[in-house]
Amino acid sequence: MSNHKKLEDFRQEIDKCVKCGACQAQCAVYKTLKRESTVARGKVAIAEALLDKDLPLNDRFVLDMSQCLLCGSCYDKCPNLVPTDEIVMAARREIAERQGLTTFGKVLTGVIKRPKLMETLVKGGQFFGPFLFKKIPDHSGLRLRFPVPFISQDRAIPEFSDQPFRSRYPELIPGDDDKPLVAFFTGCMINYTYPEVGEALVKVMRFMGFPLQIPQAQGCCGLPALAAGDEETVDLLADANVDAFAADKAEVVVTACASCHAGIGKHYRDMGGDYAVLGDKVVDVLKFLVDNGLVEKLQQLNHKDYKGETLRVTYHDPCHLRTQGITAEPRALLRALPGVEFVEMEGADRCCGLGGTFSVYHYDTSRKIGSRKADGIAASQADVVASACPGCMMQLQDSIQHAGLPQRVSHVLQLIAECLPE
Ligand code: SF4
Ligand code: SF4
Repeated sequence: MSNHKKLEDFRQEIDKCVKCGACQAQCAVYKTLKRESTVARGKVAIAEALLDKDLPLNDRFVLDMSQCLLCGSCYDKCPNLVPTDEIVMAARREIAERQGLTTFGKVLTGVIKRPKLMETLVKGGQFFGPFLFKKIPDHSGLRLRFPVPFISQDRAIPEFSDQPFRSRYPELIPGDDDKPLVAFFTGCMINYTYPEVGEALVKVMRFMGFPLQIPQAQGCCGLPALAAGDEETVDLLADANVDAFAADKAEVVVTACASCHAGIGKHYRDMGGDYAVLGDKVVDVLKFLVDNGLVEKLQQLNHKDYKGETLRVTYHDPCHLRTQGITAEPRALLRALPGVEFVEMEGADRCCGLGGTFSVYHYDTSRKIGSRKADGIAASQADVVASACPGCMMQLQDSIQHAGLPQRVSHVLQLIAECLPE
């Protein structure tokens, strides 16, 4: 059995909020909406009021709790380390328990817990793609031709892959005899919409000589269900993943998606038991590669100008890696790439505004947050915006498209793979 704390279990943490307001400067939602109930201090206060029965669980409470990116930026800078993102998730569980899931929550969790349904929908998406979507220029993806529930017509959507990543490889890709086995948790976005990121990971791991296990029975990490307050679906998905990875002997499970890193890493550790055993093995692939000497190997590669010119690359920090302290590793790898000039952008550490389902419920706010990110990208004059999270990549593509910018978005792994010999 997993261990999902109730809102009541956060009393001690809630009491630690001294109302200092330091979280205001960190919260992208507050900076956009300028309403106290959207910042950590306000959310903690209304959670406390609900527990004390000073506030009913009404539509206003549900709206306020939905207006959170779960980015953890407030926790990062809170003097008393009040875990507002966890308090918000517990409040959403409380809402789901008392009122049931929202319609979108039901649809979303209904799909992610049924991998076969997900595959069918992806195939349907490919088949009906030309009717549903119009292509927008360059690397920016697709737009809906007409209104469809839950997805804004303004949102740039990545294309579904015609062949999911996991079906492209055997379960075991051999490596050097003296290198330990590494398992790969792909996550849904790499499997269905950004398989090229998974392809890049395979190429880089081959270059490093690590044998790679890609368990076919793995599924969604459960983070979308966690954000929706659906603990039953979280448990179901976590059980399937524990089983899928139980048979392999890998001591390390790498992720190439910051959100999956939080989902199958931090959150499984919090769930305890067998989930924590799996969660303890989880390492972000860029950290893994730096720890295993990839920076030095890249520095030994011949300098090759990128198609005759030096490629100017900047980096966006996904919140789910930044708040885990993984900020230096992606930059070290980018700086070591031959033919790449790394430039910092202003606001690299600011949330891109996706926040998973936040951008579905609050696309206008999400887009405003994204437009500030686009300002930083434009000022950097980079050719490429690199990141380490497919979710951020989707949002960055959307923001770049709306701002009319020329930048390409890439995962750090793709840029590394482009520099490696075939
Ligand atoms: S920074 Fe922390 S202690 Fe200060 S108001 Fe925000 S949540 Fe409360
Ligand atoms: S988790 Fe992020 S969006 Fe939510 S209150 Fe904290 S800073 Fe704001």
